[in-house]
Amino acid sequence: MKYLSTRAATRETVTSSEAILRGLAPDGGLYVPQSFPTLSLTQIEELSRMETYAERAKAILPLYLTDLTAEDVADAVDGAYGTRFDDPAVVPISCIGEEGEYVMELWHGPTLAFKDMALQLLPRLMAKARRVTGFRNKITILVATSGDTGKAALEGFRDVDGVSITVFYPLDGVSGAQKLQMVTTGGSNTNVVAVRGNFDDTQTGVKRIFRDAEACARLNAQGVSLSSANSINWGRLVPQIVYYFHAYAELVASGRIRCGDKINFVVPTGNFGNILAGIYARRMGLPVTKFICASNCNNVLTDFFRTGSYDARRPFHKTVSPSMDILISSNLERLVFELNDRDAARTAEQMKSLAAGGSYLCPEALSLDWMEADYADESQTLEAIGRMFADYGYLMDTHTAVAQSVYDRYVARTGDRTPTVIVSTASAYKFTDAVLTALGEIPSGDEFARWERLSALTGTPVPARIRELKDLPVRHTAVCDKDDMLRFVK
Ligand SMILES: *Cc1c(COP(=O)(O)O)cnc(C)c1O
Repeated sequence: MKYLSTRAATRETVTSSEAILRGLAPDGGLYVPQSFPTLSLTQIEELSRMETYAERAKAILPLYLTDLTAEDVADAVDGAYGTRFDDPAVVPISCIGEEGEYVMELWHGPTLAFKDMALQLLPRLMAKARRVTGFRNKITILVATSGDTGKAALEGFRDVDGVSITVFYPLDGVSGAQKLQMVTTGGSNTNVVAVRGNFDDTQTGVKRIFRDAEACARLNAQGVSLSSANSINWGRLVPQIVYYFHAYAELVASGRIRCGDKINFVVPTGNFGNILAGIYARRMGLPVTKFICASNCNNVLTDFFRTGSYDARRPFHKTVSPSMDILISSNLERLVFELNDRDAARTAEQMKSLAAGGSYLCPEALSLDWMEADYADESQTLEAIGRMFADYGYLMDTHTAVAQSVYDRYVARTGDRTPTVIVSTASAYKFTDAVLTALGEIPSGDEFARWERLSALTGTPVPARIRELKDLPVRHTAVCDKDDMLRFVK
């Protein structure tokens, strides 16, 4: 399997290892597989008979990572999903709410958000890729984070040989727990910097560094190559395909659906990485009726799928679901490339128009009968948390609540009772203030007191990884302006 850039008119192809090591293509485009492997229903049925998440990962990932050996992939998978998750299922699927309504919890990894699903695997794949390609340079990973990616990347890459990592986060754009998680990170190769700006400023700043040919050449001369751990990296996307098959396989295995039945997924969406992995799974043969793309007030994607126009020229809202506070949804470019029938020149034009004028047209987005898009405002989000806890005793975080709220209105509008998986992306303990508010409390005391309060109120334990933050020293205090980020790349 080879990979090409969404913007490359020349159609130069690279291996999966090269795509993973580079992150972004030299022309600014994103790497996509040349074609999509497919799974028959028989093969999907086989997945349902496998007992562990890791086994399913080992069946799916080699279809894309063809320049690594099956042993290399298996080794990386075992390292990532073997012991570091706090639930034996790795990704538990359970029934919540009404019959046919399921939740897939992607947040049982070390940082309690779904980013761990990919970022526990990516560093291990990078190490293999470095060996396979004979890559000599040291790698510096640059990350722009809206909160969860940063910590997950720091945990994935800390003390990995031959790699260092610098994480930029928007100074006032992340939750208290997210910030504490990042600034207390250990490891000899980690660097965390706050940027005066919002997430889009931060992400734009990182992209600018990647495109700065002079800076890259200077670093190269010192034996350093830049790479990305943002969700634009192919190595971030490919691990996420696995859990869509996993969810389906679990529902088949537990007799809730028959193999071949179609299901829906509701995905709380920001940079469009999570949902795109699901869309790829569908291309590979997973029986899906609808993807429901759920946004918060930064509802640029809702409008995109309803109008065929991507228009980021709108006010930026800071919401209770900060990991979805995004107006430039980077991974959408990969879907647009498919909607353009893989016309790279047209994709490049649209992205140029977005960079220059803040918008572009893609009328093909209107023709997707498997896509629904909607958004939840702040009060609807909090209402969903309160209702799911009151009615079903299920505690959800603010991002998952956006999906729940959108789904409730979808069912009310359409009456569609297809079995549906709500993709749950974070532990409620990462967004304690908003969750307490939703449960009718007025948050008080310090961060630590609030965790205890949430625990007492809901009868759920404070996750060990949250509790330990109390005793860790703050190690990262740097702050910079958005035009000055390059200076902080070590
Ligand atoms: C990153 C994140 C999202 C959004 O995922 P995308 O892949 O950017 O669409 C949603 N919820 C949480 C908790 C996240 O960390």
